[in-house]
Amino acid sequence: MVGLGPGDAGLLAPMARRAIERARVVVGYGTYLDLVPRELLAGKDVIETGMTGEVERCERAMAEALAGRDTVVVSGGDAGVYGMAGLVLEMLAARGCVGEVEFSVIPGIAALLGAAALLGAPLTHDFASVSLSDLLTPWEVIERRVDLAAQADFVLVLYNPRSKRRAGHLAKAVETIGKWRGPDTPVGVVRRAYRPGQEVFVTSLAGFDPGCADMLTIVIVGNSATRTAGTWMLTPRGYGRKYRL
Ligand code: SAH
Repeated sequence: MVGLGPGDAGLLAPMARRAIERARVVVGYGTYLDLVPRELLAGKDVIETGMTGEVERCERAMAEALAGRDTVVVSGGDAGVYGMAGLVLEMLAARGCVGEVEFSVIPGIAALLGAAALLGAPLTHDFASVSLSDLLTPWEVIERRVDLAAQADFVLVLYNPRSKRRAGHLAKAVETIGKWRGPDTPVGVVRRAYRPGQEVFVTSLAGFDPGCADMLTIVIVGNSATRTAGTWMLTPRGYGRKYRL
């Protein structure tokens, strides 16, 4: 299981690159495969599947691996953060194949880390990540997690913030967070981190327009201490209370 990082090949970890180089078979969703430098795919069997074909993708990868071929399944970001590592392990376990094939996860730079870096330092204190996709998780569960994480003053990272089918979810999530946070709370928006067309800006909870996000966006809502520093977003860890800065 290989995480490719948020986009730019410079953020593909050397260990991930080596795993792809070594593999005979590379399995992935089309837009993830697009993140793999072309030269790494030369001479390999590339199995490309559609967006909702996760189970099929795992099935194909397992069949290849069980047939003795060195196979990598690629995910954007990190393979275990809303990625394929969990599903592959789940399917190997369901079929009694754990231990039959060598399994390993090569970490990647998750999109939340890329987004945080572009915004400055929004995640220097405790944070919670919530995916707003209700394809596999009921909306009530998602909303409850957003609500309780906001109440506990976590910085909130919102993954999968929007799609055409559920355009209202991001607005609802932000409204829920607004029960616990002031209108001036900084909100960082990062679209297409480390990819062509990258967009990064910081706004406030009151000024936030859910229409600015698409499915390649991460939204980070600050905690009660988060502030801006110039154009950056900053969540102080607390040094300023202890030391003279
Ligand atoms: N495994 C990935 C997450 C996959 S879920 C990881 O480790 O980050 C897909 C979601 O990730 C998208 O809806 C979006 O919210 C986020 N995402 C992935 N790549 C991104 C990028 N380059 N810029 C901004 N958000 C991104």
